Amino acid sequence: MEDCLFCMIAEGKIPSNKLYEDDQVVAFYDINPQAKVHFLVVPKKHIQSAAALTEEDGALLGHIFAVIAKLAKEVGLDNGYRVISNVGEDAGQTVKHLHFHVLGGEKLPV
Ligand code: C5P
Repeated sequence: MEDCLFCMIAEGKIPSNKLYEDDQVVAFYDINPQAKVHFLVVPKKHIQSAAALTEEDGALLGHIFAVIAKLAKEVGLDNGYRVISNVGEDAGQTVKHLHFHVLGGEKLPV
């Protein structure tokens, strides 16, 4: 989608500190990390937020969580991590393209 920051990152039109890419997703380190380790996993398909997901996205979601588990292991988040997806204004969603924050590398505030 034009004018979508994460679509442009997924297409390589805007640079990112990329951790992983396949045909369905891209993962990159957050430019404003909120924990010692903070990366984002983003579907290449433009979906506005988790609120726009349908049953048809089930396989994609399964893939996203498998990628999260694989990358968390690779970057050494052996002691646990947090997965967050903000939806809409009240949650503070700033980029209107579905993404999953993966935070860890330290004890996170509860
Ligand atoms: O959940 P929310 O929409 O607020 O998250 C967007 C995230 O995207 C922010 O944590 C922000 O730092 C990150 N970001 C990024 N690279 C960009 C623009 C935003 O990592 N070029």
